[in-house]
Amino acid sequence: AKWVYGFGDGTAEGTAGMRELLGGKGANLAEMSSLGLPVPPGFTISTEVCTYYYAHDRQYPADLRDQVDAALARVGALVGKRFGDTKNPLLVSVRSGARASMPGMMDTVLNLGLNDETVEAVAALAGDRRFAFDSYRRFIQMYSNVVLGIDHHNFEDILEFYKDEKGHTLDTDLSADEWQEIVARYKICVEEHLGKPFPQDPAEQLWGAIGAVFGSWMNQRAITYRRLNAIPESWGTAVNVQAMVFGNMGETSATGVAFTRNPSTGEKELYGEFLVNAQGEDVVAGIRTPQDLTERARIAAGSDKPSLEALMPDCFAEFTRICDTLERHYRDMQDLEFTIERGKLWMLQTRSGKRTARAALRIAVDLANEGLISRDEAIRRVDPQALDQLLHPTIDPKAERKVMARGLPASPGAAQGEIVFDADTAEELAAEGRKVILVRVETSPEDIHGMHAAQGILTTRGGMTSHAAVVARGMGKPCVSGAGMIRVDYATGTMTAGGVTLKRGDVVTIDGSTGEVLLGEVSMLQPELSGEFAALMEWADAARRMKVRTNAETPADARTARQFGAEGIGLCRTEHMFFDEGRIVAVREMILADGEAGRRAALAKILPMQRQDFVELFEIMAGLPVTIRLLDPPLHEFLPQAEEELAEVAASIGADIQKLRARVQDLHEFNPMLGHRGCRLGITYPEIYEMQARAIFEAAAEAAARTGAPVVPEVMIPLVATRAELDMLKGRIVAVAEAVNREKGTTIKYQIGTMIELPRAALRAAEIAATAEFFSFGTNDLTQTTFGISRDDSARFLAEYVEKGLLESDPFVTLDRDGVGELVRIAAERGRAARPDIKLGICGEHGGDPASIAFCEEVGLDYVSCSPYRVPIARLAAAQAAL
Ligand code: PEP
Ligand code: MG
Repeated sequence: AKWVYGFGDGTAEGTAGMRELLGGKGANLAEMSSLGLPVPPGFTISTEVCTYYYAHDRQYPADLRDQVDAALARVGALVGKRFGDTKNPLLVSVRSGARASMPGMMDTVLNLGLNDETVEAVAALAGDRRFAFDSYRRFIQMYSNVVLGIDHHNFEDILEFYKDEKGHTLDTDLSADEWQEIVARYKICVEEHLGKPFPQDPAEQLWGAIGAVFGSWMNQRAITYRRLNAIPESWGTAVNVQAMVFGNMGETSATGVAFTRNPSTGEKELYGEFLVNAQGEDVVAGIRTPQDLTERARIAAGSDKPSLEALMPDCFAEFTRICDTLERHYRDMQDLEFTIERGKLWMLQTRSGKRTARAALRIAVDLANEGLISRDEAIRRVDPQALDQLLHPTIDPKAERKVMARGLPASPGAAQGEIVFDADTAEELAAEGRKVILVRVETSPEDIHGMHAAQGILTTRGGMTSHAAVVARGMGKPCVSGAGMIRVDYATGTMTAGGVTLKRGDVVTIDGSTGEVLLGEVSMLQPELSGEFAALMEWADAARRMKVRTNAETPADARTARQFGAEGIGLCRTEHMFFDEGRIVAVREMILADGEAGRRAALAKILPMQRQDFVELFEIMAGLPVTIRLLDPPLHEFLPQAEEELAEVAASIGADIQKLRARVQDLHEFNPMLGHRGCRLGITYPEIYEMQARAIFEAAAEAAARTGAPVVPEVMIPLVATRAELDMLKGRIVAVAEAVNREKGTTIKYQIGTMIELPRAALRAAEIAATAEFFSFGTNDLTQTTFGISRDDSARFLAEYVEKGLLESDPFVTLDRDGVGELVRIAAERGRAARPDIKLGICGEHGGDPASIAFCEEVGLDYVSCSPYRVPIARLAAAQAAL
């Protein structure tokens, strides 16, 4: 079998497409070599050897040694040296290279092949003893650390102690003899730790390093990383062995790293740093301050150290040409490593560069505009979820961060303001135009007004699905939840963490994208919805088939959603309008009324307010479809539950407290989510739905008259299980519509449809479609009723299901294709068969989740509907699903 793949001198046995076999680094080294770029010759030991090694009790394939020896000989021939030769020795680097870059694995050993004899040969060949012994001491330290397991600090201590002894401050102050002395001390250190001397045989060194790479595949950090990132153990890692080139051969040598574009902004500019007379690890280690690559960056940074552009103009020019070649070849921004050895440039690595969401967007759009990729490809390149970060203010990456505490990144974006500890104060200060951060141990529905008023929310308890997290995401407000290291003292109005105590009115900044709580005001970047964002959205809109609507009931949310490109309202939850001040009193009167007449009297007070709500929504949506769902939750949700509140409420509506208490008890249900709610309320109290229908039709008439645009409301009945329910309620609503048309002399058009959120409704979709003109899948309730798992109580155990691998993901976040999805598919098919022009949409939380949106495309839904801040995510995800 072939285990080893060579590259170098303009040729290679591998290609970039052989990532699985050669790992990312090996595949790209081969590709660069084939492109004729200056890559030090070398070879890759394939990932199959890693697999073999673990399948055979850590033994190598029998023919591996011969293949490695042959490959080494070829490398030696290409550079005119021989591995282990005492006159003209080949030195190599050994690096790991998995398919996906993987922290936690053995990384790099440089200068391998040095020993007491070869170091003298290297000194003689280079004409530089200092360089030779500097390289040798680096090798002993690196090899001892990553292969022999001796901690770095042992060697650092020796060096520091020696420098003190000699009165040196910089490493560059040491002479050749002094480095030789360091080497001697390092060797003693190794022998003390190991009980045997540092290995002198280059072959032993090489196999030690290869073994360390394969061994590190199964170390604890690598195993943990793979588990967290769902990387299969069976993939294995490759090993890359490459002829050394030296960035530490004096002042005409250097080493550096670069991105072909700015990885945080995406700007098209070479971005990176380098060090003169150094080896790779020096740049990352931060011992010396690296220099800028370009003059432009140097000037921007106000640095007085020369740029590579100024210092080595020929190498710089070649490097920029190579950057361009690689970008064009890979059609993506590249992350590069290079070394300059005595004025000659060498490329050591290229790979697609990691980038922020902002940069990903800009780079995708720029590459398409430059003609390197198609617009479809640009659409595919941006992760829809990551757009979330761009729709909110973010902390300026250049700003200084004084981190006070950390919690969970519960709702993205950054916010700053004075801290307050209760919702009422938040509301008061916000009314004065001040910016506040609401800090609570936990939030509850009573805090909603404060959350609305605040710039952001910080809690010290609760997870990603806590009340604070869910509500904040819905509002599009930044939130850090569960910052357990903060102690909040409501009594004194203070919070304390890490020895810092802040009091009410002190300013903090929270970063809901990272979970950090920062002291003071930190400079922020405002979301940029024009430019690249607008361009990509436009391309996505042209590519998608499904429409994107929003779930909204307030004018503010509706406006936000339109700014984000919503094409109508897919779900207006009317019950939210019942909680508003001014109407909750009438709602409670209605619930407490003795008979139908009393209820109608109370409803008559609500009607004009409800009508006004709809007029506003219709006007904001200006002719786009608006789906209004009639009352859904059980009535007890509108009544106070706590004894203290009962008296207050009784007084406010002029009712007897005994009677109120009795009604609360009367409405108590053991399982309210499966109780008297949804269309069941409409069956029992038809006057409620009649009032709502009247408000809708009158509003439609008014809005149409005012704007001159036709309004076609879609009236939606929740929680239907049978056609009979829908038939009865539709009859009532049609009667109201006719009455309104008669009274006003109008001809309002409308549609009546239903939510599909019960398994029975999905199965009986054919007969339900005979009555319903549209279906909207309420996948929150459909998931709840299909799994028999409470959507309000599942956070506690569902995470464990995911952790233990029983579920791939939380079915309330990503639609369960196999079960809930099958019901959706059945209902869509049967509904369409019965009524070919039936309109199909989804309005559960899944309507804003990219994976679920892909499923909606597969079943051919007409639209998805989601919360306002998810509209752009849904537009992009719908486009990706359609491509
Ligand atoms: C649903 O059940 O999916 C739905 C959208 O309705 P609600 O969340 O209001 O129950
Ligand atoms: Mg529902």
